[in-house]
Amino acid sequence: MLSYDQARQKVIEAGRARRGVPAREVVALGGAFGRVLADPVLADRDYPPFDRATRDGFAVRALDVPAPGRTLEIIGEVKAGDAFPGIIGPGQCAQIMTGAPVPRGADAVVMIEYTKPSESRVVIERSVEPGQNIVPRAREARAGELLLAAGTRLGYAELALAGQVGHHRLSVFQKPRVAILSTGDEVVGVQDTPGPFQVRNGNSVSLAAQAALAGAEPVLLGNAPDRSAELQSMIERGLEADILVLSGGVSRGKYDLVEIVLGELGAEFFFDAVAIRPGRPAVFGVCRGRFVFGLPGNPVSTMVTFELFVLPAIDLLSGTAPRPLPLLRAKLAAPVRLKAALTHFLPARLDWAGGEPVVQELPWQGSGDIVAMAAANCFLVVPEKRLKAAAGDWVEVLPRRDRF
Ligand code: AMP
Ligand code: MG
Repeated sequence: MLSYDQARQKVIEAGRARRGVPAREVVALGGAFGRVLADPVLADRDYPPFDRATRDGFAVRALDVPAPGRTLEIIGEVKAGDAFPGIIGPGQCAQIMTGAPVPRGADAVVMIEYTKPSESRVVIERSVEPGQNIVPRAREARAGELLLAAGTRLGYAELALAGQVGHHRLSVFQKPRVAILSTGDEVVGVQDTPGPFQVRNGNSVSLAAQAALAGAEPVLLGNAPDRSAELQSMIERGLEADILVLSGGVSRGKYDLVEIVLGELGAEFFFDAVAIRPGRPAVFGVCRGRFVFGLPGNPVSTMVTFELFVLPAIDLLSGTAPRPLPLLRAKLAAPVRLKAALTHFLPARLDWAGGEPVVQELPWQGSGDIVAMAAANCFLVVPEKRLKAAAGDWVEVLPRRDRF
């Protein structure tokens, strides 16, 4: 059986081999958060465009202040947005504010905290090095330089940079469409009143949220019964999207038909089991040129396997590199001991209250326990090779992406 890392790698390899260049669209800068850039963003001019003061203080000639205690004549001031008309000559200086261009003649800025100004003179209380508190023109970027490559996912800093260099619209890749199809005769809609032995379709809700968080466009197809003909026709609808994610019906039960139906539709499978708990029966294949994931129906399994396996496929079909699994290390609050030789992903809480990361497994009733899962902000990862860990041991943690 594949480890979760190997299974992820299979998804990434298949994704790299098959992805084309996604279609593009132009969106307003303000609507581009989380999207993937289709065209590079270049510097429209030098950054900074002038020698910029990084402190409030006095613009001086460093050679006038080789030692503390020199007095200089103040010949004017310059604030951000303005330029100083004159030249700083020997023994002279100008008051300057953060963000202002350094006047000609000056080659250093002394922080106001290190000066004693009076009317038209100022005593400089520290010696001065040339270049101090100045960012020279073009030190951050030269005009025409690449700032954001195509394929960059746009976060707040990237958007600010694009805006700073004058892009009020951006060319981005279209989001991949992720069709979501739950399966199970016992599953009813969240708006429905379940019979005594039925369950509402929580999986379609979490999957849609996870897909949206990952940067995809969820397409909700509802629920398919555990009957081949209906399942097949709903799967065929799902194959119109870029990725089809199914929940349920992938175990070894008599009514677990997902893999069989996908096989009949000609799917090529890359894996149909992974050495993890929850989530062992997870399926990944390609059917009619589309990526298909059959995730186990127990809600926690569905959530874990989406994070591990579907996310990299979404990234690749979005036109960007798959983001790494954000595994952290934390100290275990209480011992854990597990039996099955599988890597476990246990609902847990991660906290820094005592100044260091501590993770505590939550009591739970197994992978159907969505109550425990909703109290968790991470998964405690207990590797197959080390199923026992003591309180105080450093362990791995997979944070929930929507919690940090
Ligand atoms: P399965 O993987 O089809 O064997 O389902 C495993 C468990 O998950 C069963 O207890 C199902 O009732 C439950 N389950 C399956 N699909 C859903 C769903 N869409 N929402 C919530 N629970 C589900
Ligand atoms: Mg089922």
